[in-house]
Amino acid sequence: MNLAQANEITKTLSKKYGILHRPTIRILKNSRYGSNAIMGYFTPKTNEIFINKYILEQWTNKEIINDVIKHELMHALSYQIRKDSKYHDKKFKEICEQCGVGGNLSSAKKK
Ligand SMILES: [Zn+2]
Repeated sequence: MNLAQANEITKTLSKKYGILHRPTIRILKNSRYGSNAIMGYFTPKTNEIFINKYILEQWTNKEIINDVIKHELMHALSYQIRKDSKYHDKKFKEICEQCGVGGNLSSAKKK
């Protein structure tokens, strides 16, 4: 997947979830590969979602890329709702549930 495609997905999903300010997808520069690599993160200050280069460019499983984007958008929505985007707490999980974003990524600490 390329950056334009990822941003297109983000556009569609942001509308779906009611995110008022759509975050921009960027490639995480110092991406690492492996089970403990960061898959992505959301930065409220600049309203950007950084995605691991290898996941975005090399993974053929689009579902997983979608899940990473969805998860990071939940952080963006969390920030929109309560000016906090960092935590995978109870409130965060409620937001995920309301949007139908589930699976491992709703609670995964992706570090
Ligand atoms: Zn997270």
